[in-house]
Amino acid sequence: PHLTPDRQLSKEPIFSIEFFPPKSENAAQQLLATAKELQSYRPDFASITYGAGGSTRSRTLKYAKCLHEDFGFKVMPHLTCVGHSRDELREIIREFKDSGLNQIMALRGDPPQGETDFKPHPDGLSYANELVRLIREVHPDCSIGVAGYPEKHPEAVSSDVDLLNLKRKVDAGSDFITTQLFFDNRIYFDFVERCQHAGIQIPILPGLLCITSGDQVRRFCALCETDIPAELEAQLADAGDDKQKVEALGAEWILRQARELLEKGAPGIHLYILNKSGPAVTVLNGLKKAGFYKA
Ligand code: FAD
Repeated sequence: PHLTPDRQLSKEPIFSIEFFPPKSENAAQQLLATAKELQSYRPDFASITYGAGGSTRSRTLKYAKCLHEDFGFKVMPHLTCVGHSRDELREIIREFKDSGLNQIMALRGDPPQGETDFKPHPDGLSYANELVRLIREVHPDCSIGVAGYPEKHPEAVSSDVDLLNLKRKVDAGSDFITTQLFFDNRIYFDFVERCQHAGIQIPILPGLLCITSGDQVRRFCALCETDIPAELEAQLADAGDDKQKVEALGAEWILRQARELLEKGAPGIHLYILNKSGPAVTVLNGLKKAGFYKA
């Protein structure tokens, strides 16, 4: 049995999916269609990201409520410190609480577009560990997730320093870690081992990206300094602009990764689905066939 993010015991590995709040009517329709299609796979939870800027607050909450109330998902809204005072953050956490959302992903966030350094709001928070503490204070029973970086956070001077900072988030009271995307499982297993040495005992949920375009994955990986293995890069180069081919090879790659992760004891998988159902369905059907999920 595994310990799920909300501290319940689960016989099956956790499976969760990540949405982002859509910005247009078309994109909203796509999110709804994807939610409908993935509903029958009964994820343990669905998370929804928090973007930069003021409008994100209402959009994240709107779609968190929609996924929760209309689709019955257990929803984990993300929250970042960007541009918010402590009082605003308290208010948002209360809004989540009042909407029946009992799981929050606590993040510092990236600097707004055009800025290179993260500058905290004058009355705000500087690091995610402070946000974890604030959430615990305002919403004590909330399950809190934090981000972990198997290939190091780009701003951290070293992996060891980054690990110490991850430990601060754990010590502040987080319940589980979701990792940044990675394409080589050895990197995850090494990270888990280093976390264990550092005394981190909460579940570390591997985050896997459903690839939908070669250019997009290269852009994401450049931003978060994630390595693309040569074999995957060669496959992407070979598929070029053929979207179907890229999606199929991407899903195959992720399925292979997920299978090995689960075989070797990962507590579950978290899929960055980019609001699309296709690759996630391929991966989940593959995992079911391999006997990992019964539902
Ligand atoms: P922190 O944990 O605060 O770390 C930031 C940097 O500061 C690291 O280099 C760390 O080593 C260092 N550090 C941490 N604590 C301290 C401390 N106390 N003292 C000194 N140094 C410290 N971004 C969004 O905008 N919206 C989202 O919804 C979103 N979701 C994400 C989900 C996941 C699973 C992941 C992995 C990332 C997500 N991000 C999101 C990106 C994230 O906001 C960025 O990676 C951001 O740059 C760091 O956020 P963090 O919470 O990891 O920060």
